Amino acid sequence: MIDLDTDYGIGAAAQAFLARAGKMLIGGQWVDSASGEFFETRDPATGRIIGRVAAGDAEDVDKAVRAARNTLEGRLWGGMLPAAREKLLLNLADLVERHAEELIELESLDNGKPVTIARMIDIGRAPNFIRYMAGWATKIEGATITPSVAMGPHARFHAYTLKEPVGVVGGIIPWNFPFVMALWKTCPALATGSTVVLKPAEQTPLTALRLGELIQEAGFPDGVVNIVTGLGETAGAALARHPGIDKIAFTGSTAVGKAIARAAADNVTRVTLELGGKSPVIIMPDADLDQAIVGAARAIFFNAGQVCGAGSRLFVHNAIYDEVLSGIARIASAMKIGPGLDPATEMGPLVSEEQRQRVLHYIESGLSEGGELLAGGNVRAGDGYFVTPTVFGRVKPEMTVAREEIFGPVLAAASFETIDEVVNLANDSQYGLVAGIWSTNINVVHRMIPRIRSGTVYVNAHNLMDPAVPFGGNKQSGYGREMSKMAIDMYTETKSVYIAY
Ligand code: NAP
Ligand code: MG
Repeated sequence: MIDLDTDYGIGAAAQAFLARAGKMLIGGQWVDSASGEFFETRDPATGRIIGRVAAGDAEDVDKAVRAARNTLEGRLWGGMLPAAREKLLLNLADLVERHAEELIELESLDNGKPVTIARMIDIGRAPNFIRYMAGWATKIEGATITPSVAMGPHARFHAYTLKEPVGVVGGIIPWNFPFVMALWKTCPALATGSTVVLKPAEQTPLTALRLGELIQEAGFPDGVVNIVTGLGETAGAALARHPGIDKIAFTGSTAVGKAIARAAADNVTRVTLELGGKSPVIIMPDADLDQAIVGAARAIFFNAGQVCGAGSRLFVHNAIYDEVLSGIARIASAMKIGPGLDPATEMGPLVSEEQRQRVLHYIESGLSEGGELLAGGNVRAGDGYFVTPTVFGRVKPEMTVAREEIFGPVLAAASFETIDEVVNLANDSQYGLVAGIWSTNINVVHRMIPRIRSGTVYVNAHNLMDPAVPFGGNKQSGYGREMSKMAIDMYTETKSVYIAY
């Protein structure tokens, strides 16, 4: 599919995958799109094309949904015992571990992220996540209930609940953590016995396709996981409105999330939404400043700010404002920016030229609306979709950079005096995904936590994830939770049974 002579600076396994990748996985077969159309995926560090991938549309989605339905109802998967599903997921975890280096290179090349991040987070943590979800397959339980209804003086009822797979799941995912997102949408579904049609983001389809191969190698029956690559407005929209889908699991922007929920409403399809954020980080005057400065810089610049929980709004107490902001600006200016495949790189390019233009537009708005530029604010010379880590100080709450999700390495900082003031500032957002508090006064922290409207609060930390801890949003950051037993609940239906005796 691509020019094999091109040296991307990756190993033989990743190179071989690039050479064979491009088809979609439907019912256990690797196929071209029905239309025969393709789209290109690029290396964000250079803008070079690294692969051509099938552009699926409504017809391909329909085939994939039928395959997933057949498998759901068939003996091979529908009749499989929980321990056997667990074993298949454990096989998959082992395979991900074994092919980690290849996956790290593919993720870095397709998304632009530093290999160090892919190694530590995206691919490094994947086996643990898969194994955690594998464990749930054998631990899904209903309840036994003694109802008080009766039929006449003698007949009584015994009641119990069954937890059944939700059915065919449509997973629609973004490009910022492509492999992680693919796992979040598939593994809990597979633990419950559901089947999946997954649509990766157009910018980063490669590791989801490699995951499809590993799922086959792990021994999952054909049609358990189907992967339809394609554009959001065609393949994604077709999935969201398909009557054969029982549940849509979406991660992405709030605007697209709303469109998906509307489309799904016609079929009363279940929906969970993990959407955007504009997450506050609060630094109290008693914080350990060395830790807080590094922590606040990481909270926004990790993964070039392309993180749903990025700490993009910073509130620093007046007494320490100048010290904290100059510290963060120093870190921003010293960050090593370069191609993700260079092990010395601390921050890679943004995912696409479109995303870079979006971020630059926000930087211009920060300047024109009166933000004080303390670091960055420009592109890096040469090829690739680079933007330098940018810090705006003295940002007013009504400024665009304080209100809208930028999804890039741009920090909007302001100062505060009282706890009431900073709680109001933190909550003054349509979003409510995560929040960070840096303080050594645990009493104050405990009083602030219940007042902050967000799905997660980090104290003296940021951007942590654990498979056992629920993750999701309040307000327009979405509904439903991923990770933990709550994720399993999102992929099951409850059936109540009454038996007269
Ligand atoms: P996006 O534009 O909303 O796209 C997400 C996915 O939806 C992509 O696969 C996209 O396809 C697809 N899509 C686009 N239009 C669609 C439509 N009309 N119908 C169905 N599907 C459609 O988001 P993004 O720019 O890729 O990702 C950034 C956003 O994701 C940010 O807002 C970020 O906060 C959010 N995010 C949230 C979390 C979380 O856990 N809360 C995690 C990560 C990211 P194409 O890309 O192929 O067009
Ligand atoms: Mg790409």
